[in-house]
Amino acid sequence: MTPRSAGPQLCDLSSAEILAATAGRTLTWPVGSIEQHGPHLPLSVDTLLADAFARQIAYELNALTLPAQSIAARSLPQSGGGLSFPGTVHVRGRSLLGFLEDTLESLCALPWHRLLIVNGHYENEPFLFEALDEVARRPAGAGKEFIALSWWSLVDTDWLAGRVPLFPGWHAEHAGITETSLMLYLRPDLVSAARPDHTDPPRPGIHLHPVDVHRTTNQGVLSSTSKATAALGKDLFWHVVAAAVDLVSEGNGLLREEKT
Ligand SMILES: [Zn+2]
Repeated sequence: MTPRSAGPQLCDLSSAEILAATAGRTLTWPVGSIEQHGPHLPLSVDTLLADAFARQIAYELNALTLPAQSIAARSLPQSGGGLSFPGTVHVRGRSLLGFLEDTLESLCALPWHRLLIVNGHYENEPFLFEALDEVARRPAGAGKEFIALSWWSLVDTDWLAGRVPLFPGWHAEHAGITETSLMLYLRPDLVSAARPDHTDPPRPGIHLHPVDVHRTTNQGVLSSTSKATAALGKDLFWHVVAAAVDLVSEGNGLLREEKT
């Protein structure tokens, strides 16, 4: 299978077509970042991966995809390397929350039924969840179904453990083995040969200031990249797409009682 590089795009429709085309449908919205991803990956990784997942999921669900949002939350030192590394373009959390609420409320004027936000940037998650919770309570959100997820939240722990022993945790999976592998599968033209390893990733749930990014990262990489392969990226891509389709089809994000 080849990922959909160009699924059906909401903004390719005309204003005259949009009401009929979106009535009762599902929309997917990829949200990423412009953020440093070590010496071997481009600033666009989080946006590019969210876009690829959102387009493929939309294809599987006969949904429409919104343009990817790339400018979002600030990169933090313990989960993204932070602002010590040049290239991150972000807005403050208060701006992002206002932007997301305005965008979502405006989007609710269309007669779609379900919105699935596919997040690719670790630091976006609390703002996305809060904005959705806020808009869902407003009159504009009445009758709508909202799902927001970070793609890595769909990765089965046992599935990953069989492929990536000593996985450091998703907070430290920044420019590491899974993102590098996905990029090798989806956009190998954007991956350079460097494969930094960082054997002492930061611990989750801790924010330090001042922070020595030469200790918390290796050139902006928080974990390890040397085992990254396009084959792992391919398996991971389709694992996540299948899990997203299952989640939407089942109508909830609860853990399954039995793993298949
Ligand atoms: Zn990333």
